[in-house]
Amino acid sequence: KLYNQVQDLKGNIRVYCRVRPFLNGQSNSLSSVDNIDDSTIAIITPSKYGKEGRKSFTFNKIFSPSVTQAEVFSDTQPLIRSVLDGYNVCIFAYGQTGSGKTYTMTGPKELTEEELGVNYRALSDLFLLSNQRKETISYDISVQMLEIYNEQVRDLLSADEIRNSSQNGINVPDASLVPVSSTFDVINLMNLGQKNRAVSATAMNDRSSRSHSCLTVHVQGKDLTSGNILRGSMHLVDLAGSERVDKSEVTGDRLKEAQHINKSLSALGDVIASLASKSSHVPYRNSKLTQLLQDSLGGQAKTLMFVHIAPEYEALGETISTLKFAERVA
Ligand code: ADP
Ligand code: MG
Repeated sequence: KLYNQVQDLKGNIRVYCRVRPFLNGQSNSLSSVDNIDDSTIAIITPSKYGKEGRKSFTFNKIFSPSVTQAEVFSDTQPLIRSVLDGYNVCIFAYGQTGSGKTYTMTGPKELTEEELGVNYRALSDLFLLSNQRKETISYDISVQMLEIYNEQVRDLLSADEIRNSSQNGINVPDASLVPVSSTFDVINLMNLGQKNRAVSATAMNDRSSRSHSCLTVHVQGKDLTSGNILRGSMHLVDLAGSERVDKSEVTGDRLKEAQHINKSLSALGDVIASLASKSSHVPYRNSKLTQLLQDSLGGQAKTLMFVHIAPEYEALGETISTLKFAERVA
């Protein structure tokens, strides 16, 4: 059965594009999005000659602004469930600040059950399915939460800086790995992680948009008849904002941050693009993020990139660069 699943996979990288709705009070604003269907998005491009043009991009799926959290999750569910069969899965949220990355992965600030993001739904689905299988396989599920800021990895579940003794093949052995057995456990841990993240945010406002946060789920299953062990993992990554900062306007710490973000997002793009083109060399070593995820990118591992688009016309420049990034890794 596993063999068939592997055969069915037409490549292990998929790209979904999600378009955020207009936020309160701007429903009459001008949109950069011209048309959306199941897999193609057309955006308006300003022309040098004064007349607007159209440009289309095709991805595995486009989620229009009206698509709900439940619908986004249901398209992701098979991928998430494969973790219990021993697969490694990476799910990324990419896009400029304000485009909806955190909404997709976690949900809005004031969480309602309806608006729970992918990470809560993923965990509760894994609990549900592992429970259904409990007569045949006994599963242990545990989670880690990390933040990468300025190429430094931090453990969000203990608020300690990760000691990076082994720079080569970093696997963050020191990061807290916390067993979980219910959605309740997960919500508590995520709250703790968010709090630890917020502590450092007071020094620098809104650090969350300038760091990557990664929720990792480790699954170990023991086949109760054969005694065989299988292991799977899932990384749920809310990436730093992809907007380019104007180098003429920023200096000092802000410039350093921007350079780190730039470097790690382009390193991620390079890794996925070279996996997608089946290149023999995959440049994992160029950023902390790609080093950290090396074992979960490539091989039998499955990757899903959610690219986020803000609909406002003013965001057009960033929208185009986001879609170009996505096109390169698709
Ligand atoms: P990012 O994490 O990319 O900076 P957020 O997820 O914080 O962006 O989204 C910015 C704002 O837009 C938030 O107030 C969020 O709740 C809202 N938002 C984003 N996506 C949606 C959506 N699909 N439906 C409703 N509100 C959304
Ligand atoms: Mg965010």
